[in-house]
Amino acid sequence: ILPVPSDIAISRAQQPKPITVIAEELGVKSGEVEPYGSYKAKVSLKTLDRLQALRKNGYYVLVAGITPTPFGEGKSTTTIGLVQALGAHLGIPAIANVRQPSQGPTFGVKGGAAGGGYSQVIPMDEFNMHLTGDIHAVGAANNLLAAAIDARAFHESTQSDKSFYRRLVPKQKDGHREFTPSMLRRLTKLGINKTDPDDLTSEEVQRFARLDIDPDTITIKRVVDVNDRMLREITIGQSPTEKGFTRKTGFDITVASEIMAILALSRDLKDLRRRVGDIVVASSHQGEPITAEDIGAAGAITALLKDAIKPNLMQTLEGTPVFVHAGPFANISIGASSVIADRMALKLVGAPKVTTERGGFVVTEAGFDFTMGGERFLNIKCRASGLRPDVIVIVATVRALKLHGGAPNVKAGQPIPAEYNTENVELVRKGAATNLAKQISNAKTYGSPVVVAINKFTTDTEAEIEAVRAEATLAGAFTTAVSNHWEQGGEGAIELAQSVIRATREKPVSHGQPVSYLYHLDSSLEEKIRAIATKMYGAKDIELSELARKQIERYEKQGFGHLPVCIAKTQYSLSHDANLKGAPKGFTFPIREINISAGAGYLYALAGKIMTIPGLPTHSGFMNVEVEDGKIEGLF
Ligand code: ADP
Repeated sequence: ILPVPSDIAISRAQQPKPITVIAEELGVKSGEVEPYGSYKAKVSLKTLDRLQALRKNGYYVLVAGITPTPFGEGKSTTTIGLVQALGAHLGIPAIANVRQPSQGPTFGVKGGAAGGGYSQVIPMDEFNMHLTGDIHAVGAANNLLAAAIDARAFHESTQSDKSFYRRLVPKQKDGHREFTPSMLRRLTKLGINKTDPDDLTSEEVQRFARLDIDPDTITIKRVVDVNDRMLREITIGQSPTEKGFTRKTGFDITVASEIMAILALSRDLKDLRRRVGDIVVASSHQGEPITAEDIGAAGAITALLKDAIKPNLMQTLEGTPVFVHAGPFANISIGASSVIADRMALKLVGAPKVTTERGGFVVTEAGFDFTMGGERFLNIKCRASGLRPDVIVIVATVRALKLHGGAPNVKAGQPIPAEYNTENVELVRKGAATNLAKQISNAKTYGSPVVVAINKFTTDTEAEIEAVRAEATLAGAFTTAVSNHWEQGGEGAIELAQSVIRATREKPVSHGQPVSYLYHLDSSLEEKIRAIATKMYGAKDIELSELARKQIERYEKQGFGHLPVCIAKTQYSLSHDANLKGAPKGFTFPIREINISAGAGYLYALAGKIMTIPGLPTHSGFMNVEVEDGKIEGLF
């Protein structure tokens, strides 16, 4: 057997179809396709509007994983392999919906996210860098907002009420003043029913114009799409022109911004505009939340995002369609691709309303393991979209199961211990009976059938695979399929595709009924966190820090208590402690701090110190990259 070539070599060896051909095959009309070069296109939201009334939703498949090793266990490759099997081998319409990767990991340690081996999105270099510029647009939008907040605080603090108001609402050429649409929104919020700027009393001028931003509470950081560790903490405003208005802040990686989460969770442009306006950017000295709407930036931010909101169409190695859209950071956000792409794809593969069929398949991925990524997908993303997965695929590898069964820890960049390359059925069985079983039982609580996909590695043995099948069945999986898509492409995933199809026939989820969510939105924030930690992670109870308690009290008082909660913790354990493998029990789950993403529509609770801008290691991915004869080399 010949070894599998590098990802970029495989990608380059395949001549992609023109993207207009992929669009046509999907039934996207030519006026709805906006090509960016030859192999990428944006698809207009008109497609969704056109199909909304005509089509049912096709089947919606969520791919999640078991608790991974640092190498990743193959969710992305399985997602791509599965749609290749469905679309290119079984002749069933199928679209993969995946995230756009950040350039941080692309040039840092983890590598790209196009899948790998013979299950990839191509051209993988275009996928991994720039794409159609959405991340750059998100960065521009975020940095406009960040600049607007500091400028506002600066101007307010250096001018008297009256002169500040006169400058904020300046005279037009014809000598009269006019409020902007966002100013009118702010007036309505304040209960001031006036439209002529000259009619405001001085008390109203004061209330309207003075946001009274407490600079210590500003939550919006600048962002950049590079793992630039030196920007983690900075001091701004050091030029004399800022009159001593300095403050400590820092940068996040662009995909960690709330704007990226909003791009992923918005249902349409109007919903995006509303969410952007709702972003809480700081508190006033009185503790009132100040929003992007109050700053007057929401309209311009929406303008910067008006193309980014359209899903990007690409293709798999086997010429089937893929939407690449949005990529919120899995560390503190939902780590899933966009609601809009899912809605559009489900209609594109959906059967006409008048038939009894449902149509084809949309396969999408949730970052990290099911217990973290899948839980957020169901309780946050599905709440935003109203969609419900028909099947949940849980990807497992023999390698990760051995780790959970008690094999020595594996670390990126270090030699792999012998247990991983020789048969050891007992370790595999133990890992499957603990970690895989817990992932399956967690997934089943949401009411969808669970298919386990064993992502096959060349070193896996028949006896090891049998052990996984047996434990998965015991834990209540619908079935287990071995998938060899990495080595064989779609052909290697046919068993998996057939298992998924069978699950939709034999265990149909009642359509139109929402997901059985883990918690009610109206329960307290503390109860929501407790439900996630005890029912999903296996904790005995939670422990809130003093700070977290105060923050909960404040957010509930400010009216944000009804939001779902995204918990940020290590991805290397079901618990908060990366060293605890298998399915730990009886631990107390700590919450240090709680933050708000009011526009994205959730609070996020940190279980430990979470890095929001990674750093570059001594040997970074970027060092391997060269351009030869106009072609990129060394990108994985
Ligand atoms: P995840 O999405 O779970 O993080 P990926 O699908 O990105 O995982 O896979 C992680 C890495 O492992 C990729 O570089 C991929 O090419 C490689 N990989 C995945 N499956 C296999 C396999 N069966 N054999 C060898 N390498 C694999």
